[in-house]
Amino acid sequence: MKTILIVEDNEKNMKLARDILRAKGYAVLEAVNGLDGVNLALEHRPDLVLMDIQLPDINGIQAFERIRGNPATAKLPVVAFTASVTVNDRSRIGEAGFDGFLSKPINLKEFVDTVRRMLGEDAP
Ligand SMILES: [Mg+2]
Repeated sequence: MKTILIVEDNEKNMKLARDILRAKGYAVLEAVNGLDGVNLALEHRPDLVLMDIQLPDINGIQAFERIRGNPATAKLPVVAFTASVTVNDRSRIGEAGFDGFLSKPINLKEFVDTVRRMLGEDAP
């Protein structure tokens, strides 16, 4: 079973993402702030990380950079999971080197397709 780490401080978004991923047969790890996210990534080496950008401690870009900066977690795929939609935000996220982008509110098809693609799974 593949494991996906969700780093998200909004309870509703967390619940929805968790419910979808569990229903699709993935194991889910959860962090509600950036530092816990970095630590869980290091501890469990999940197959994919969904990273919110606006978080209560370090932001998602900083958390991403810590994950990338540690050789133990540098190769984990990390997708920005964010409501930020300005061109500026998108380019900041792109420049940071995230592997993908998932917008909020969650669109079920986009969400599942992106997760599968990031995991290297073919659509059924
Ligand atoms: Mg947030």
